[in-house]
Amino acid sequence: MRAIGHWIGGRLVEGDAAARRAPVFDPARGVQTGEVALASPSEVDDAVKIAAAAAAEWGSSPLNRRSTLMFRLRELIDAHRDELAAIVTSEHGKTLDDAKGEVARGLDCVEFACGVPQLLKGEYSCEVANGIDVHTVLHPVGVVAGITPFNFPVMVPLWMLANALACGNGFLLKPAEKDPSASLLLAELAQRAGFPDGIFSVVHGDAEAVNALLSHPDVDAVSFVGSTPVARHVYETGTRHGKRVQALGGAKNHMVVLPDADVDAAADAAVSAAYGSAGERCMAISVVVAVGSVADTLVDAIAARIPDVVVGPGDEPASMMGPLITREHRERVLGYVARATEEGADVVVDGATVLEREGFFVGCSLIDRVEPGMAVYDDEIFGPVLGVVRVASFDDALALVNSNPYGNGVALFTRDGGAARRFEREVRVGMVGINVPIPVPVAWHSFGGWKASRFGDASIYGPEGVHFYTQPKVVTSRWPDPASSAIDLGFPANR
Ligand code: NAD
Repeated sequence: MRAIGHWIGGRLVEGDAAARRAPVFDPARGVQTGEVALASPSEVDDAVKIAAAAAAEWGSSPLNRRSTLMFRLRELIDAHRDELAAIVTSEHGKTLDDAKGEVARGLDCVEFACGVPQLLKGEYSCEVANGIDVHTVLHPVGVVAGITPFNFPVMVPLWMLANALACGNGFLLKPAEKDPSASLLLAELAQRAGFPDGIFSVVHGDAEAVNALLSHPDVDAVSFVGSTPVARHVYETGTRHGKRVQALGGAKNHMVVLPDADVDAAADAAVSAAYGSAGERCMAISVVVAVGSVADTLVDAIAARIPDVVVGPGDEPASMMGPLITREHRERVLGYVARATEEGADVVVDGATVLEREGFFVGCSLIDRVEPGMAVYDDEIFGPVLGVVRVASFDDALALVNSNPYGNGVALFTRDGGAARRFEREVRVGMVGINVPIPVPVAWHSFGGWKASRFGDASIYGPEGVHFYTQPKVVTSRWPDPASSAIDLGFPANR
């Protein structure tokens, strides 16, 4: 059994002998392959102290040096794409192609952070009053804790760590305990790139480690990505302890299809976005909203495509959809499909029928005539289950999306530019796709949902990442002629 330890202070550290441990599986084979150490509060405390000491020096390092190291990290990640992807596939289960895609999207964030001298230029106003200038400089925040979900074990850490390090902070990653190994390779690559020891550490753990980070006095900022209940807990606990917190939560992403849409294109998009990565994406489409007359043809077109989705181990080239993350999660997902019939929905394709392989596999499920109030609609299932809600009009579709508590992503399929423009303006969701089913922004924009999909006011990566990982200091200065000095008790109007 492979023992998976932490990376603290620039080296691998085994967990305390007495520490709790969690199993790590190969989900495609259903066997345990490793055991990850779960850090205790005192181990978290040690790692935070090391990060704080490293950050004190790193925060005043020259911008060119940070940029140079970030370029080197970019080269090393690029050179290790295949290795990172293989680790992701072995512990998460997604296909190798999908895993390579997540490495590429993470790399975008590193490339954005390579431009740190430009990003941290600050602002200067000359002569705001007679002989007085004002400038704003962006300081690091200090120590940033990043707490990440299992579904993107490379990309989501890179969303955080690239900007956090480039902005001069120490970064402590607490990855998901279900697929912990990719984070250790990222840490090793950062060290090989030349980042100082301790500036980027990895502490494995579960709720106990997270709670130790949230209450630690030397953690200044917390970036969280995961499910909504945990995001809410992290936001409330972290802010109560005086930290700045960005907490991205779960999703229920709708894809609205208007009657004038290209049905084949919409069906292709629905199948790709609902079943890619076995539905374990925060931007996966889990509800198709079929407007008016398009419903029957669209449901038929989606159902006709499902047999083409090859379910199998992520490391086999023919596989299009891998297994789910754990056996328990598979049971939970299948439970929703079984319950849908009792709730009055129409199970068109039942993924439970494709279970003969070992490993945590399920097939694709398609459930028609779903409605709010049914568990299959209300809950984030996070599996390959696509519900179809039939509505009469564009207004009904918009109202459905806007009344959903989540607001991560949404898509509209139409040929009508006016309808698309109105949808884009009126929909209450953070990321909108027009004829694009998974509208994940690129690294030089920022990523974040609305409503219960995000707590705190900052989105993640891109310009908002730089904003979150820095604090402005505004300096007002005058270099007066000593002869002009005089007492003045007034409040300057500067006019
Ligand atoms: P999760 O919320 O179970 O876990 C996320 C992190 O929180 C992990 O590191 C985990 O160890 C920790 N954690 C779990 N329970 C905790 C608790 N009670 N107290 C403190 N910490 C706890 O999420 P997951 O199952 O790993 O990931 C899937 C979820 O993440 C889905 O809901 C998905 O939508 C969401 N997600 C959101 C985004 C986004 O950008 N909004 C991106 C990816 C995933």
